[in-house]
Amino acid sequence: MNSPVSQIKERLTIEEVVSSYIKLERSGSNSKARCPFHNEKTPSFFISGDRGTYYCFGCGASGDIFSFVEEFEGLDFKGALKLLADRAGVDLGNFSKEQTGEKDRLYKIMEEATLYFISNLKDNTEALQYLKSRGLEEKTIKEFRIGFIKDDWRLLYNYLKTKGYKDEEIEKAGLVKKSEKGYYDRFRNRIMFPISDSSSRVIAFSGRLFQDDGKSAKYLNSPETPIFSKSATLYGLDKAKNAIRNNNFSILVEGQMDLILSHQALYRNTIATSGTALSDSETNKENAVSNLGLVRRLSNNIVLAFDGDKAGINATSRAGKIALSLGMDVKVASLPEGVDPADLISKEGLDAWKNVVKNSKHLIEFLLDRVILDCKGDERKMGREIKDKVLFFVDILPSAIEKSHFLKKISDITAIPLLALEDDMKKLEKEQKFEKQEIEDTVKNTNNLYRKDYIERKLLGIIFWQKSLKNPIINTDEILADLALILKKDSKEIIENNQINKEDLIFEAEVFYSNTPFDKEIKELLLNLKEEYLKEELGLKMRELHRAEEEKDQNKSIGILKEINDINQQIQNIKNGRLK
Ligand SMILES: [Zn+2]
Repeated sequence: MNSPVSQIKERLTIEEVVSSYIKLERSGSNSKARCPFHNEKTPSFFISGDRGTYYCFGCGASGDIFSFVEEFEGLDFKGALKLLADRAGVDLGNFSKEQTGEKDRLYKIMEEATLYFISNLKDNTEALQYLKSRGLEEKTIKEFRIGFIKDDWRLLYNYLKTKGYKDEEIEKAGLVKKSEKGYYDRFRNRIMFPISDSSSRVIAFSGRLFQDDGKSAKYLNSPETPIFSKSATLYGLDKAKNAIRNNNFSILVEGQMDLILSHQALYRNTIATSGTALSDSETNKENAVSNLGLVRRLSNNIVLAFDGDKAGINATSRAGKIALSLGMDVKVASLPEGVDPADLISKEGLDAWKNVVKNSKHLIEFLLDRVILDCKGDERKMGREIKDKVLFFVDILPSAIEKSHFLKKISDITAIPLLALEDDMKKLEKEQKFEKQEIEDTVKNTNNLYRKDYIERKLLGIIFWQKSLKNPIINTDEILADLALILKKDSKEIIENNQINKEDLIFEAEVFYSNTPFDKEIKELLLNLKEEYLKEELGLKMRELHRAEEEKDQNKSIGILKEINDINQQIQNIKNGRLK
């Protein structure tokens, strides 16, 4: 029997799959598009229908329908497989019995816990009443699978034990903690909101404190686990993705309640930062870039709708900076201080929320308005604040036309002469060069990192899978040696470091390659990986060159330049080889 992957590929063409996410143009016998994985104005993302693959000449993204769905949706292989199998009408039944890897057990535990929380909510009229008093309808509670857990130490733990799960598994799922007296529930006395990945598998929880005891945090989230990575998750994205694509904009709110009420108000394109990398105050830039990158692929337009207090404004600035750097069009919905979207919707109704979204302003205008309000009448202060709080954002804008548009606007509104603003911008460009560069690099690196991981995983899968066979059809030692050379690591170390994912990697390789010859594929994977590493090195060398030039160290510059030429030549060779 054909592997499920080849069955799916027989039923779904690459054009069909990709065009359901982005707009394609015909180009000879191929199709092209603006690349969803990097920011560009003219299309360099090419699709070959015959080969069932894509390749981007801008950023090097390449692969087939599976890698496309994985990267676009932020899913792992099994998630993409589930999604595409559903779409193609391919039954994974025969294969699912093989899903006994560690991650599969964790998904099962999370689903079991979700059902347990739901049944607890049904039995607790007080908690149910609370949700209704916040404006939630019965069908919404059902749709978002909201649950409840009473104030007790081991309710969930004991329940999962009766279902046959092991202590270590329950702990790994992030549901219990260990103390001297044994395991106890992480979530107690909380309304439970399951967080799902984009194929709708529950991967984490966010729990809202039910009865305030004066000492527990209002919100408690699952820790990172083998199935929950904050950088690849936005609350509600699984339910919002189609609406974001169809309406061509997303609304980003902070809390679950905000999101759920906004969905109930028919803004189904709403997503929330809650429990994800974007909600951390010391946000790691890479994680925030991946979070917003997920949304950007669906639509370039985003409306930020955080609370109108100081923390909300800070969150707006943080997310706004990164969204602008990703080339997104960022608007801000202005909420009164101390009012969040959930309050607004439940107290003032749908129309109030509609108006706030409709009247959202470009991020720069929003920040400008705030400065003007803060500095009423104090012109010197206003000049300073504009430089400190607004111009940096103008500087990040990728287009020169947009930059001058906003400078003129600021000048018109504040009566600060345009020349003075331009002067300030120039100074700022120098001062902020480092931060700007850092964000730009992060955007580049995040894509790069993803791609490297992806290819590495594929190769490791093939190696582990073939090693596990009695009669392997390829020489795994050879591939491993090639891989070690590219990674500049020891072969043994590579194998040891990946033992934990071994079962998943084998599963992936097996469903992917069984019954298909894959010699050529391995060569291509190795070349692609090498290219990614060379590109990364090139970036590092460019920065070194920059520094050497700034220090006016000519000998050093010449040396680095030579290295750069050499790397470029190697990349070119790989590219030329591909065209043959
Ligand atoms: Zn690209």
